[in-house]
Amino acid sequence: MTQRLLLTALLAVAASTPAAAQRVPTPLEHFGFEIGADRKLANWTQLTAYYEALARTSPRVTVDTLGLSTKGLPFVMLTITSPENHARLDELREVQSKLADPRKVSGPEELERLLDQGRTIVLITHHIHSTEVGSGQAAARLAYELASSNEPRILEILDNVILLQIPSLNPDGTQWVSDWYMHHVGTPFEGTAPPWLYHFYVGHDNNRDWYAFTQVETQLTVEKVHNVWHPQIVHDIHQMGGNGARIFAPPFIDPVEPNVDPAIVAALNQLGSYMAAELIAQGKQGVVINAIYDAWTPARAYQHYHGGVRILTETASARLATPVEVPPERVRGGREYDASQASWKHPLPWKGGTWRLSDIVEYQTSGALALLVNAAKNRRFWLENFYRINERAVRGWPEWPAAWVIPADQANESGLAYVLRILTMGAVEVHRATEAFRVGGRQFPAGTYVIPMQQPYASFAQALLEVQEYPDLREYPGGPPKRPYDVTAHTLPLLMNVEAVPVESWEGVPPPLSEPIPVQSFRFTLPEALRGARAPRIALYKSAGEPMEAGWTRWIFDQHGLRYDTLKEARVRAGNLNRDYDVILFQSQSANAIRRGYPEGSLPREYTGGIGEAGVQALRSFVEAGGRIVAVEEATELFIELFGLGVKNAVEGLPRQEFYVPGSILRLDLDTSHPLARSVGASTHAWFWGSSRAFEVTDPAIRVVARYGEGNPAASGWILGPEAIAGKPALLEARVGRGSVVLFGFQPNYRGQSVATWPLLFDALAGAPTS
Ligand SMILES: [Zn+2]
Repeated sequence: MTQRLLLTALLAVAASTPAAAQRVPTPLEHFGFEIGADRKLANWTQLTAYYEALARTSPRVTVDTLGLSTKGLPFVMLTITSPENHARLDELREVQSKLADPRKVSGPEELERLLDQGRTIVLITHHIHSTEVGSGQAAARLAYELASSNEPRILEILDNVILLQIPSLNPDGTQWVSDWYMHHVGTPFEGTAPPWLYHFYVGHDNNRDWYAFTQVETQLTVEKVHNVWHPQIVHDIHQMGGNGARIFAPPFIDPVEPNVDPAIVAALNQLGSYMAAELIAQGKQGVVINAIYDAWTPARAYQHYHGGVRILTETASARLATPVEVPPERVRGGREYDASQASWKHPLPWKGGTWRLSDIVEYQTSGALALLVNAAKNRRFWLENFYRINERAVRGWPEWPAAWVIPADQANESGLAYVLRILTMGAVEVHRATEAFRVGGRQFPAGTYVIPMQQPYASFAQALLEVQEYPDLREYPGGPPKRPYDVTAHTLPLLMNVEAVPVESWEGVPPPLSEPIPVQSFRFTLPEALRGARAPRIALYKSAGEPMEAGWTRWIFDQHGLRYDTLKEARVRAGNLNRDYDVILFQSQSANAIRRGYPEGSLPREYTGGIGEAGVQALRSFVEAGGRIVAVEEATELFIELFGLGVKNAVEGLPRQEFYVPGSILRLDLDTSHPLARSVGASTHAWFWGSSRAFEVTDPAIRVVARYGEGNPAASGWILGPEAIAGKPALLEARVGRGSVVLFGFQPNYRGQSVATWPLLFDALAGAPTS
């Protein structure tokens, strides 16, 4: 270009840009290093300042603070699209809301107009898992490219797609991990992660919250993004271990949860395969599809029940931002593929070598751009497919009942409110019958909750209200069962001890209904004995490396206003625990982890060492002098051993080919003569998974409070070898000295959801030693 032409072109650009716009700052200019540079991580303060700078300088970008994180940091979303789309954002959101609910579309002509006008709505979420640091850094690189590049494919994306980008689903963790990492670079602890939970309450479990909506970050995303924009595509960017493939994209492996529309499954197979094809065309090695991850639990996949696809990518990790060397012989194995071999799902293996943060950021950014190219080029397909999925839901699937009915006058008010909260926050239309009605030989009064199953998000209601029958998948015909990737049950009425009745047909006229009820709130009332001045003094043990179950326990305590202290290792070691406490709760943690903690030298000294022998003896004295210990799952080991209780773990050492429960809901029978069983009654349901156990009791003085059901105790989900636990003790109370020990074999607070067994946990904390 000649000097004069260049000047003319620059003037033309200047004339067409708003006066306030400046040049978009590069990441190097803003952060002082390239995104992905070795041993450099931007923290949340620096990242959000960059997103503000992009919004100031690029007419393609706006940034909104949707609310505050658990620890009070801004939770932000970028909206990235062409300036023309930005100018009519409200109108485009209205188009999308009609495609999301075919009942609002007047006919084929209006549909045609909507399909013509609409844009593909893509939500990309980053860094839900804080030690998967590439995802949080790649957010800035992706936003910069979209904000500044004039490549034809970027312009095509901006014209056809509205990108909603949440650069961190857990800002607290983004800040903590970056600051910890940068503080320790160049020390013996470079590359370590902070030992505490990187989400204040739930740690890594924050991506298992997509139907229970317990945490504020989930609520903001669902209520202010999903339910407002109804994205056709959700892309969640993760990292995995460092010795297998370099990046995973869908198709997922089987099984797919049966209420996910087949057109969602097919569309996500197409999209994931396209992403893989683009990455491999760019020469990227180690791209795998159809391996490792399944699509069973709705806990990870809100959008699969809301008309859209959920694309997960998982990129191989380094040591945070520190490069790693992977020798070729270490690249191997993998679930449903072999990282050392070429195959149809993994055509170009990675051969080992150096792997660094810049590789992670490059794979993640390229994967996201490939997804956006597909969303842009196939705009019409994505919109029409989305509409047809919602249309089928509004007609009702033949597999579904006509409606679900939930009696309003249930004894368990907390469980009922929780179920209604989940359904309504998940955008399910829940009505109340305005007159009494009769169906299935049963009379229901006016006020009964009714969920007609001809509505856009009926699949969400169906998945959460029905019993899960996990398919019998075998390694080969007649061979051993394939072990599920994740938990297999999510039946809310069982987890929350609530009655919900499927109505197969209305047998005539359905009852008249109210307008849908608004999003419900949820409360749980603590037992009387835990309130007021005479309540026992409770401590929750918190080691340096806190198990997620302890975090979930803190969450229900804080939610419900329980007074408790956080008991750290040093305080246990100091002894004289009876002076301050009546009850100490140990969540699931092995005896070794409690005793020894992190090994010396693995982390700064203040985090290593556990409670040690001094702490163990302090716990012994505490109980002998009248204290009470409540121990859950793995933590029962320490106290069985310490007090020489006549109790064994009945499933210890059983090979996984004989006994395996990845996460299922079991029948539980209780001894109602025991005070602990008083508020639950003779039977309920309990959560059982990898860390759970059944007991064998050889000391008749130990009281068995509850047993797993006889026969096959599974009420929902998958269990291999049920005879290993059928009828076996599940909850025990033992007297020791002047005190007592309560042993939970199952998890009484499964991810903040198992309301059915919360009373057992709270009563165990409330109960005075039986003497
Ligand atoms: Zn992850």
